[in-house]
Amino acid sequence: MKNSRDLKDLVPIVAAKCAAFVSACKEQGVDVLITSTLRDNESQAALYAQGRTTIGINPRLAKPLGDVVTNANAGDSFHNYGCAFDFVPLKNGKAMWDDTKTFTKCGVIAESLGLEWAGRWKTFKELAHCQYTGGLTLQDLKNGKQVK
Ligand SMILES: [Zn+2]
Repeated sequence: MKNSRDLKDLVPIVAAKCAAFVSACKEQGVDVLITSTLRDNESQAALYAQGRTTIGINPRLAKPLGDVVTNANAGDSFHNYGCAFDFVPLKNGKAMWDDTKTFTKCGVIAESLGLEWAGRWKTFKELAHCQYTGGLTLQDLKNGKQVK
């Protein structure tokens, strides 16, 4: 099972955009940590199971398995093709998962670099997620096309 947070596991153009993103955030006073880059299908399937068949986020009496963390099953995430990364802003070295304002600031920076920021998504908003597809669809990637 591979779930990398190494920029080297991203396709080259996405790795470059990710590095530029980290630098640009720093210039604007925000340290960000990259928490995920490339995931293999096995790792994606394990994430997809969270909140469905295994325990996900915030398990509670009314929802013992908690909330789901992704709508993408194995092969259906841009992470599976090295085209996406997740980040979290840090404050004094601590991950600020609930800091929507800082996530948004970073999301705007990501967009200025040509990345797609999932904080804008309507169906499964994900403040931590950025991707670059070069106009390719998941089906293109499944067919072996490369993001350039
Ligand atoms: Zn993501």
